Amino acid sequence: MALPAPAEPFAGPDGGKRPQDRPTQHSLVIQTAFIGDTILTTPLIAELATRGPVDVVTTPVSAGLLQNNPALRHVFVFDKRDAQRGIAGLWAMAKEIRQWRAKHASGIDRTVAYLAQGSTRSAVLAVLAGAHERIGFATSPARSMYTKRVPYLENQHHAARLWLLAFPHESRAEPRAERLRPRLFPGAAEKAAVTDLLREHGVSGAFIALAPGSVWATKRWPYYPELASRVATRATVVVVGGKDDQSHAEAIAAAVPPDRFVSAVGRLSLLASAELIGRARALVSNDSSPTHMASAMGTPTITIFGPTVPDFGFGPLAARSRVLGHPALECRPCDRHGPQRCPLGHWRCMRELGVDEVDRVLASIVS
Ligand code: SF4
Repeated sequence: MALPAPAEPFAGPDGGKRPQDRPTQHSLVIQTAFIGDTILTTPLIAELATRGPVDVVTTPVSAGLLQNNPALRHVFVFDKRDAQRGIAGLWAMAKEIRQWRAKHASGIDRTVAYLAQGSTRSAVLAVLAGAHERIGFATSPARSMYTKRVPYLENQHHAARLWLLAFPHESRAEPRAERLRPRLFPGAAEKAAVTDLLREHGVSGAFIALAPGSVWATKRWPYYPELASRVATRATVVVVGGKDDQSHAEAIAAAVPPDRFVSAVGRLSLLASAELIGRARALVSNDSSPTHMASAMGTPTITIFGPTVPDFGFGPLAARSRVLGHPALECRPCDRHGPQRCPLGHWRCMRELGVDEVDRVLASIVS
């Protein structure tokens, strides 16, 4: 996927230029994990853009999110679970990268691969693609294939952990907050799609976005319809999500007057969903990718944590954001991602996190 040339070549997130005392580096960021991980990789991408051209290898789903990013030169779409499965697919991807590198070798001193996702497949891809250096986390399964290993700091936000991959020689690199904010860049098509959707429903004023979905069932807070019925007395409710979230949108629709409800579920691309979230007064989300879209778009967010906790490093980053979770439950956290079923059967981490608390905090961040 070819991207438009950056308006300011090698300009960093704050417009900084590539230091002249460094050789020009080609960075290859390999991030084939989840959507949220890709969003949280954008600060690393912006940092690397101060050193030379940056290309990314990512999944078909995540590729669209990176459109228009001025820090990126090229996105390689790696369909590792379907069309490019197995060794043949890996080899084809590596060949494509090598050909691209050969075509754009002028002025480049070396290629450095950043393994933002720690699988062996990604590390093998970096080797086959001819990267001179491979930098990844010291805890990754493929760490023996890296030329440099960076500590995976449990006490840091994941955006910071990923950003620190850019500094494998500096044990004390301290990210400034503004450097860690992820960024997405919806274009004219995404803006138009959102404008059309809101106009279709007659929404011209403030609205609150709700994102009730999650791949992991135990991470889905069960009281979005009740919250929506309260929010609808004050503002329009807009539900965001993919087509798998249709049943959640229908449950919310049943609790809200039709003239106070919009469903964007399954109607927008991921990047357009980010644009929609960016226009909301606030977002209420589970510990899931909409939280990171809101961080990238600067929308205050309430992120509800059930079986997971903010300390894992995936909380919201936009100003005035808040996190909520059961205050006293010894079984939390019970899983890195959130299991499909509560292993104890009671699911108290979510069932006992009531609407009153979420609604009170929501009112406080939009007032
Ligand atoms: S074990 Fe505890 S934290 Fe895990 S899903 Fe059940 S109630 Fe939630």
